[in-house]
Amino acid sequence: MESESKNFATQSSGIYSQELLLHFTCVDCEKWWSIGDPDTLPIELFCPWCGSKQTFEETNRLD
Ligand SMILES: [Zn+2]
Repeated sequence: MESESKNFATQSSGIYSQELLLHFTCVDCEKWWSIGDPDTLPIELFCPWCGSKQTFEETNRLD
């Protein structure tokens, strides 16, 4: 006879992590992209769509 539900106490413990996902919007082409766990701002990045280089400041946050 098969048991459909496992005993919770006998299951292995999983591990997890939390990611900070930032969305960057290019001021030239207005397309956006995301980076998980980026370096701290301000950060200098090239737009992956048009290649424009720009600086992202913490004060330029869009909520
Ligand atoms: Zn761009």
